[in-house]
Amino acid sequence: MVKIYSLAGIYIHIPFCKKACVYCDFHFSTSMKNKSELVNCIRKELKVRKGYLETNQIETIYFGGGTPSLLEKEELQNILETIHKEFEVAQDAEITLEANPDDLTIEKIKELKSCGVNRLSIGIQSFIGRDLLFMNRSHTIKQAVESVANAKELGFDNMTIDLIYGIPNLTQTEWKRNIQKALELDVNHISAYCLTSEERTAMHHDIAKGKYELPKEEATSKQFNVLVSTLQENGFEQYEISNFSKIGHNSKHNSSYWKQKNFLGVGPSAHSFNGKTRHWNVSNNGRYIKGANDNNWVSEEETLDEKTRYNEYIMTSLRTSWGINLKYLKENFDPLFVSHFIKESKRFVIANSLIQKGTHFTLSQEGKLLADGIASDLFVVE
Ligand code: SF4
Repeated sequence: MVKIYSLAGIYIHIPFCKKACVYCDFHFSTSMKNKSELVNCIRKELKVRKGYLETNQIETIYFGGGTPSLLEKEELQNILETIHKEFEVAQDAEITLEANPDDLTIEKIKELKSCGVNRLSIGIQSFIGRDLLFMNRSHTIKQAVESVANAKELGFDNMTIDLIYGIPNLTQTEWKRNIQKALELDVNHISAYCLTSEERTAMHHDIAKGKYELPKEEATSKQFNVLVSTLQENGFEQYEISNFSKIGHNSKHNSSYWKQKNFLGVGPSAHSFNGKTRHWNVSNNGRYIKGANDNNWVSEEETLDEKTRYNEYIMTSLRTSWGINLKYLKENFDPLFVSHFIKESKRFVIANSLIQKGTHFTLSQEGKLLADGIASDLFVVE
């Protein structure tokens, strides 16, 4: 296998939230009881597992969750101090922290900046009170707008906001207005996701009970299309199906997942990847803490065979603006996989769902609506 990238990333999962959003299937707890102990375990895991990565050089650090903006200044400082002690962090490393608007007081924003965070990912989701209530979000529209304005005022020039479409009762007009409001905030990155019903969520339960249903695909496709065209008209590049950025503001950390770079994930439920194996921690705060204290970490690991690596490459690259690179396939996979790709991709190129430019294959606009189906047809299954 040809190794293209040498620098790696670190992901830190902070598994605490003030409230449970109805759609969320990430791992989190609404009880803060063990927060400081869990932070200490995360620091311990960073020390114990630093050898998982083949390199010690880190170019991105990402605090995700859960709600990392619930960390106290000292907790955040301590985690970052451990990372700097155990790893060689690049001078210009991208350090992102996911935040909910209600946590981003002026004082908090100053704290985050002083700790070295240089990119904020703010979970706005909607500018409609009805939808925030429906989703059980912890913030108001006013807090969302003010959090972005204050962060800019205090020197954050690298920010992304999250939006959700496909919410029951969200009209096309309301969605267009949401996109306009997002543009008015003048941020350089926007992520937008279609609401989906995941098992073991309150929303899934309510849908099963017949309380409401999610909009049909025809409606969500319209919302997706208006999202893409409006953001493109306003200078954003869709560099991944759900991610849009102004030039030079792609998320380095998330791009590294899609470019097969290595990353170490610490904290409950965090995943890691080192080119050969995928590793994931237990999704339970109590068991994670006990494992850390007993030095008997609760996690699983699988060695990735060639088929899995190929399928993962197809799935992630297909969603990006750089697409699937035939040259990369030839350099990294058995010729049988390469000929499978060449054979299976032909009909999508003819149907104009895939566009071939040189050795790169990317999705056309229509193809983006069919991404999952196309990916699974390109997979090797036997
Ligand atoms: S704040 Fe984020 S992680 Fe927490 S429940 Fe809501 S969507 Fe999930």
